[in-house]
Amino acid sequence: MDPVCDVLVIGGGIAGLSLVSELAGRRSGGSGVVLAESEPVLAHHTSGRSAEQLTPSYGPPPVRELTALTVAALLDPRPAPPRPLAWPSSKVLVGTVDQLRAESAPGTQELSRAALVELCPELACSPAELVQAGRLDTSSVRTDAAALVAWHRDRAAAAGVRILTGAPVTALDADDGGFTVTAGPHRLRARRVVDAAGAWADGVASLAGAAPLGLRPLRRTAALVRLAKPLAPDHPMVVAADHRWYYRRHGDGALVSPCEAVPSEPCDALPVAEDVEDLVAILNAVTSLGITGVVRAWTGLRTESPDGVPVCGFDPDVPGLLWLAGQSGYGFQTSSAMARAAADLLLEDAVGPWCSPGTAAALDPARFRR
Ligand SMILES: Cc1cc2nc3c(=O)[nH]c(=O)nc-3n(C[C@H](O)[C@H](O)[C@H](O)COP(=O)(O)OP(=O)(O)OC[C@H]3O[C@@H](n4cnc5c(N)ncnc54)[C@H](O)[C@@H]3O)c2cc1C
Repeated sequence: MDPVCDVLVIGGGIAGLSLVSELAGRRSGGSGVVLAESEPVLAHHTSGRSAEQLTPSYGPPPVRELTALTVAALLDPRPAPPRPLAWPSSKVLVGTVDQLRAESAPGTQELSRAALVELCPELACSPAELVQAGRLDTSSVRTDAAALVAWHRDRAAAAGVRILTGAPVTALDADDGGFTVTAGPHRLRARRVVDAAGAWADGVASLAGAAPLGLRPLRRTAALVRLAKPLAPDHPMVVAADHRWYYRRHGDGALVSPCEAVPSEPCDALPVAEDVEDLVAILNAVTSLGITGVVRAWTGLRTESPDGVPVCGFDPDVPGLLWLAGQSGYGFQTSSAMARAAADLLLEDAVGPWCSPGTAAALDPARFRR
């Protein structure tokens, strides 16, 4: 007979791992929970390619609420991890006064150009008509994605969650009692299934007969570059308000991104050399960072829902299929709160009351089927 589990989570990125870790911390523990990941290693796709920044002023209102909750959880994780999962790291948006007004958010601080240049001296040479002012978020934090992934994995495994790698789910047959699943060499029965398959989430749900939500994988690149002179350890992340570039300190160099959002098929995304070359030219023109070379570049897929808000909820047509997808550029910053919402739905059938009813409703996949 096929082994039976209560919950099968498909996808070993930050979404799936945060969920199995959250389930491990609940009263029911992790027994009866299985995670299946296609790749031989966890977090191989987008979750291994992020900028590791969590900013409570970034994103639409539900995302901001989920981010504030996630930041609080990662600054004080239980049980305490061997090394910190998150630490304060400011972020400043820079641009014209009009652009910054459009991005205004509670808890952020307006900076004049003079104050901005004092904070970020490398912007002294930036065109005054383009960089008129700044908006500083001191509640922003950095995370260590690898440490966070390991912490979730270990917490889940210690509670009895079975983590299967090299186990692509290729069949998901729904019937009255649940699902019959093929995951690589494994065949199992699952009472409920969570679709945390990132860029592949629409395709995975279709295996169970669910209609797609219209998720859009969008390519985004980041690179590590060498600098003529290192940035100060407390230098904020600097983001152009027109979303054309960002940079932040990384050791003696910097992590930079051209912030592109190019539609892609679900795949192992690769950088386009010209994107990085153009970015280096732009940053060397608008700042005095003095980028002297590229150490390495990588690309991931930020997968967006049609309204830009992540999705967490049961499929309206396929009983027992829970979506945990569409995290776009907010997958780390919303991860703990999204996992909490998904665990609530699996264990209690309703989200909250730790988040506002508006945010819980905003995540429901049924909004795309009305
Ligand atoms: C350049 C860049 C910078 C970013 N910076 C930030 C940032 O600073 N802060 C932030 O919050 N977010 C950031 N993001 C976004 C964040 O990385 C994503 O939102 C997050 O990683 C998505 O996690 P996920 O688990 O949903 O997807 P993924 O990490 O892609 O995980 C999905 C997993 O599902 C697996 N899978 C797919 N199909 C199957 C199947 N059939 N069977 C089994 N497994 C399957 C895949 O192999 C994959 O491992 C950034 C993204 C990029 C690209």
